[in-house]
Amino acid sequence: MDMTRQQLVKFALAQGFCDIGFAGAHDMIQVKDLRQPRELLGGAACIVVLFAAYRPAGHVPPGHMALSAYYAASHTSYHAARAVAGYMKRHGAQALHTTAINAKEAAVRTCGFLGDNGFFYHPSHGSFVCIQTVLTNAFEPLEYKQGEAHCLHCGACAAACPSNAVGNIQNCLRYHMNGTVPEVLRGDVYQLLGCEKCQAACPLNSGMQSKPVCFVLEDILAGAATARLRELGGPNMARRGRLISQGVLYAAATGQKRLLSQLKRLAENEAEPIRTHALWAIDKLSGEHK
Ligand code: SF4
Ligand code: SF4
Repeated sequence: MDMTRQQLVKFALAQGFCDIGFAGAHDMIQVKDLRQPRELLGGAACIVVLFAAYRPAGHVPPGHMALSAYYAASHTSYHAARAVAGYMKRHGAQALHTTAINAKEAAVRTCGFLGDNGFFYHPSHGSFVCIQTVLTNAFEPLEYKQGEAHCLHCGACAAACPSNAVGNIQNCLRYHMNGTVPEVLRGDVYQLLGCEKCQAACPLNSGMQSKPVCFVLEDILAGAATARLRELGGPNMARRGRLISQGVLYAAATGQKRLLSQLKRLAENEAEPIRTHALWAIDKLSGEHK
């Protein structure tokens, strides 16, 4: 192998990552399959943990809806991590970019901590970081020295959560992206694909925001924004039905009565969960739900 750890770090930084850690792969808990990391790649002992910082979307104009900044950053960092794995292989190392590793667990083996809101906190960048993992036999893990930063247990995240989901994760909006959102949570959908309110409220985050990537609600409901959203968020996340479904809920939550006829067409012509969401939105905009 003709690559030093420093060369890898330099390459990864050039791909847009803000920090790189080297975690031990031993006893790693698998989320998506039950294989141990070593079985993913021979005798791999190390997980290269790649951090990419982002900022949540700022103010969105009326009649528009923003894409969660996390999903755009996550899609970009996914491809950057594949480039890192390719670089390692070109230099004679075994390397596997994989999403089968519990990224948060790998991350806390290199730095930071988990907050009460369940998110990983990087010591310099807070919780607004995407985490990618590359399994390799090229390096030994670096010893992790526990830092002083920790969750303040202040409760600000729980107070900011619209669905009482901090410590009660089945209520989290992010777990209802694919199907019918429980009625009690429908009014809380405020951006496409994700929710970041419990992170935005945390005093350990900087409060800085990014320019929102937003779309006109008519275009979201008509499916005209789907192609661009797939480019930004990736085809696995930015699915047509999911986007329209969330747009419908946000149209109702923000009182977009001008969209009633479009919502009625969706209720008549679309499958679940769009249909149920559209019927709910029509009721809400017609004054039957307060
Ligand atoms: S808001 Fe407070 S309790 Fe929640 S993660 Fe941040 S520091 Fe911890
Ligand atoms: S992501 Fe949103 S819904 Fe989920 S715990 Fe955080 S604030 Fe609550």
